[in-house]
Amino acid sequence: MATGKAKTVLIVEDEASIASFVSLYLRKSGYDVRTVATGSEALTQVAVDAPSLIVLDLMLPDMDGIEVCRRIRRTTEVPILMLTARDEDVDKIIGLEVGADDYMTKPFNPRELVARVKSILRRSTPERAQGESEQMQHGDLVVDAGRREVRVGSEEIQLAPKEFDLLWELLDHRGLVLTRDQLLERVWGYTFAGDTRTVDVHVRQIRRKLGDASPIVTVWGVGYKVSPDRATAPA
Ligand code: CA
Repeated sequence: MATGKAKTVLIVEDEASIASFVSLYLRKSGYDVRTVATGSEALTQVAVDAPSLIVLDLMLPDMDGIEVCRRIRRTTEVPILMLTARDEDVDKIIGLEVGADDYMTKPFNPRELVARVKSILRRSTPERAQGESEQMQHGDLVVDAGRREVRVGSEEIQLAPKEFDLLWELLDHRGLVLTRDQLLERVWGYTFAGDTRTVDVHVRQIRRKLGDASPIVTVWGVGYKVSPDRATAPA
């Protein structure tokens, strides 16, 4: 749609120096940038301005980034890139029903941040529209790309956006082993060597949510695959 219009990125960060350099780099790359310093301002901004992407710091003065993320997710699937100062927070951010799309650990290279913002936005544009009615099945598991719905039998399972994409990618290549780097590139769009732990964390969440219906098999030292299965329903 709005091709000529710059995409808006909302930065939620109370450390002014980080907010301003991130904002500088994103502006230089052609994005419209808004900056707020608290969680409540972020929620207001999301409601009035509908940004294309949010860069959200985990440590905010009024409420933590996880809570902000959770509240945003009640109303929109806008992509969220989380910033964290500690590596241990990664499981929390990517996992639990929080639904962030990606994260970066401070200190980070601002160019890498811009690269990730670009790739997240590229992935979130509705390229999937062509696969509108596509459905894949594996045993009791049914994944519907058009509705972005996952069901096990008659039960609907809520997956975060990247969990869904990862599951789809693996199902779409059933029988083939995909390495963590390949998955990062296909699902997250990184063209550089990324942090492959993101993939493991997402796989863990998918398994937790799908339980026995999870079709994902770990191939030691290589990556993941979905075993070719009994019930297959192409397109
Ligand atoms: Ca902070």
